[in-house]
Amino acid sequence: MSVISVAVLRPAASSAAQELSATLERQRQAFLQAGPPTLDERRADLARLKAAIRDKAEALARVISEDFGHRSRHETLLAEIFTALSGIRHAEKHLGQWMRPKRVSVSAELLPGRARILYQPLGVVGIISPWNYPFQLAIMPLIAALAAGNRVMLKPSELTPRTADFIAEFLAGLFPSDKVATVLGGAEIGAAFARLPFDHLFYTGSTAVGRLVMQAAAESLTPVTLELGGKSPCILGEDAVLSGAVESIFYGKLLNAGQTCIAPDYVLLPEAKREAFIAEAQRAVKKFYPRLAANRDYTSIVNERQYQRLRRYLDEAKAKGARIVELNPAEEPLEESRKLAPTLVIEPGDDLALTREEIFGPVLPVRTYRRLDDAIDYVNRHPRPLALYYFGEDAKKRDTVLARTISGGVSVNATLMHVVVENLPFGGVGASGIGAYHGEIGFQTFSHRKGVFLQSRFNGAFLLRPPFGRITDLMLKLLLRR
Ligand code: NAD
Repeated sequence: MSVISVAVLRPAASSAAQELSATLERQRQAFLQAGPPTLDERRADLARLKAAIRDKAEALARVISEDFGHRSRHETLLAEIFTALSGIRHAEKHLGQWMRPKRVSVSAELLPGRARILYQPLGVVGIISPWNYPFQLAIMPLIAALAAGNRVMLKPSELTPRTADFIAEFLAGLFPSDKVATVLGGAEIGAAFARLPFDHLFYTGSTAVGRLVMQAAAESLTPVTLELGGKSPCILGEDAVLSGAVESIFYGKLLNAGQTCIAPDYVLLPEAKREAFIAEAQRAVKKFYPRLAANRDYTSIVNERQYQRLRRYLDEAKAKGARIVELNPAEEPLEESRKLAPTLVIEPGDDLALTREEIFGPVLPVRTYRRLDDAIDYVNRHPRPLALYYFGEDAKKRDTVLARTISGGVSVNATLMHVVVENLPFGGVGASGIGAYHGEIGFQTFSHRKGVFLQSRFNGAFLLRPPFGRITDLMLKLLLRR
C-alpha cells in the first residue's frame, strides 16, 4: 500500500469506527514506542510543513476558490497562508523555551525540595475543522499539536471537498501515516471520529455541532477544545472616529464575504450617528468594492444552502418591515456569481432569525443605543461572543467596556486583528467555546503539564509520619499557626 492510501482514510460509515480505531491505535503505539520527539525533530517537522505551504500557496488558493465558487486569492494568501506561516515561524522561534521544564518555588516547609512543571505531549490528538477557512483552521491546530510533540488525526470539512482532498494529499506527502493521518467524510464520519478515545479532541465549527462533539468525547473522558461561533458585537463609542471605524468594520465584515467566525456580526452605535454610519458604510463599500459580481476581491457564499439561508434572513426582515440598505455600488445582479451584496438591516426586531442566529455572511444589523451602558447590557443579555470590537478614543469608556463585557477576545479600534497576535490566546468563552490556542497557549493546550516534586535527601518529611506524637503536634502547631 502506498503511503498516501494509508495516511488518507475515506471510511465507509459502516466500518468507520473500526478503521478509525485501528489508525488511532497504530499512532498510539508509534507514539509510545518512539517517546516524545526532541526539539530538533519537532523543528524539522515544522520546517518541512512551512516549506511545503510556501510551495503550494498558489495551488491552494485555486483549490479553495473552486470550493467557494470564488474565493479571493489575496484573502487566501493573507488569511490561510500568511497566518499559518507566521504560526510556524513563531513556534520555531520559541519552541525551545516552551518545552523547557519550568521551575516553580515550593513553600518553606517543603524546602530544600524542588518542583518543576514538565510539558509532555499528550499522545494522539484529533482535530475536526470547518469549511470557512478550510486550510488555516486545520493547519493552525496541527502546528500547535506537532510543536507539542503529538501524533494527529485530522478530519477536515466535507463542505470544501477539494480542499479536504488537497490537505489529505499534502499532509500524506509530508508525514508518515502513524504521525499524521487525514480522515475524509461528512457528519456521520465526524460523529464516529468524535467518539474515538483521543488524548485530546480539538473542534472548530458551529456551537450546535460542538455540543454533540463534547457529548461524544464525554464517553471516553476525552478533554476537548471547542472553537465555536456566535454573534460578535461591534460597539461604537460616542467619540469613535466614524470613517475609520466604518472602514475597519467593513474590512472585518466583508473578508471572506462575512464567513468568518470573528467577523463583526452586528453594530451598536449611538442613536444620533445612525444616518452618518449608513452614509459612511456606502462610501466604504464603494471604496473597497466598486463592483461586486466580477470582482476578484469579493468572495462568493460557499454553497447554495448557505446562500439560501442568508436570503431567507433578508426576506424575513423585509417581510416584517425592517429597513434594509443594500450596498451594491454598481447595482449589479449577483445571483449568477452566488455573491451577496453587503446589506445593512437597520434596527431589526428581536424575533428575526438574523437577530437570533449567527449571520456568517455580509449582512450587518445596525442597532442604536442611548447610553453606553445600554449597549453593554445588550451584549450581556446574549450568549458570550467569540469576539467584541470597540471603537472610541476615551480610555475610561474603553476600559469600562473591556471590564463589563465577557468575550473570547477583543480588538479596540480595529476588527479581527487580535487573532493574528500569536502571543494572545485565541478561543471563546461560554457558548463561543472552551479552551484556546495560538502561540504558547496552543502548545500548552496540546501538552500535559506534569507537576513534579523532587525530594531532597535531607528533608523533614519524617516529622509528619506515624506514629503521631509530640513532634507531630509541635509541627502541626507551627504549620497551622501560619
Ligand atoms: P462544518 O459544517 O464544516 O462543520 C465543522 C466540522 O464538524 C466538519 O468537519 C464536519 O464534518 C464536522 N461535523 C459535523 N457533524 C458532526 C458531528 N455530529 N460530530 C462530529 N463532527 C461533526 O462547519 P460549520 O459548523 O458550519 O462552521 C461554521 C461555524 O464554525 C460557525 O458557527 C463559525 O463561527 C464557527 N467557527 C469558529 C471558529 C473559531 O475559531 N472559533 C472558526 C471558524 C468557524
